Amino acid sequence: MKKCQDYHCNKLKLCITAVTIVLILCNWGFAPHKELHAVAITGLPPTIYRFFKSHQTELINRATDADKRKHGVEAEAARHYIDLDHFKEGIEPCSWFEACETFTEDTLQVRGVLPWNIELVYGNLVHEFTQDSLNTGRVIRLCADLGHYIADAHVPLHTSSNYNGQFSGQTGIHALWETHVYETSRNSWTPIKLEASYIKDVRKWVWAIIKKSHNDVNEVLTKEKSVREVENAPEGYGYRTRGRTLTLVPTSDFCDAYSDAMGGMVEKRFYMAAKAISSIWYSAWADAGAPDLSLTVNHNMRDSKNGLVRFFQDLLKDQLEHVEDDQSQHQQKLK
Ligand SMILES: [Zn+2]
Repeated sequence: MKKCQDYHCNKLKLCITAVTIVLILCNWGFAPHKELHAVAITGLPPTIYRFFKSHQTELINRATDADKRKHGVEAEAARHYIDLDHFKEGIEPCSWFEACETFTEDTLQVRGVLPWNIELVYGNLVHEFTQDSLNTGRVIRLCADLGHYIADAHVPLHTSSNYNGQFSGQTGIHALWETHVYETSRNSWTPIKLEASYIKDVRKWVWAIIKKSHNDVNEVLTKEKSVREVENAPEGYGYRTRGRTLTLVPTSDFCDAYSDAMGGMVEKRFYMAAKAISSIWYSAWADAGAPDLSLTVNHNMRDSKNGLVRFFQDLLKDQLEHVEDDQSQHQQKLK
């Protein structure tokens, strides 16, 4: 009997361990990345809105391509983060070559290359926009990647070596902040009207975003601890059906308490990211000389309003079905 109990106990422990691993490996979930692109389109000026809107399906579907590439491209993982705390001597906006001279490329690949990668993709996008014969597929793919990296730059934990709370006894906080708080609070967010603005100096702009994100790391960590350690703290984890599986995830009450403690930081950063994505797409087009995109509008686009409604209806379903695929995204980052 004891053996049997031990067996079940071990099996339960194994399940909890497996679920924990699943939880700690999550990234900005599929749904937030996709929704960010959908919202970013709404902030574009009329001159380019129609082009982006007509290609919205691909732009949204490809919002997570960059994360999927981590499975097959070894260098991809480092493009999504930068561990600013590892630059003890500090680091100011600089070119990739300047950074390599100061820190060596090998060191940078370990600490993360997010700001330089954004600059690189931005340059590629501007170049594509300047082509006489626009390669729409390539433009949309670059826009999707660029939007993804900009979104990651707005996540405080993408700027810290303690990216999953593994050094502070808070393992799993990455997914809690990026995915679970979004899922539980999204319906109560106040919609914001976005307006893209032209970015004069992309390098300075990107570094300012990343440094602001890094300034919030402490709050992200301390507020989680304060919610967990308070008397009558909400139950931390509970079972929820996700797709076809029963999964152990943070409870809604815990997510709500954490979100409140942070003063709605996830919502604020989501809209900041959406505006930033809109602005960087617009600026790339402007820096390319504002080419006429009317000939490359996809005239097969479905009715815009209905298309967006369908998109949001499918969003949750999509998130639930793909959540399992999202688990190994930070695997390569585990050191
Ligand atoms: Zn990412």
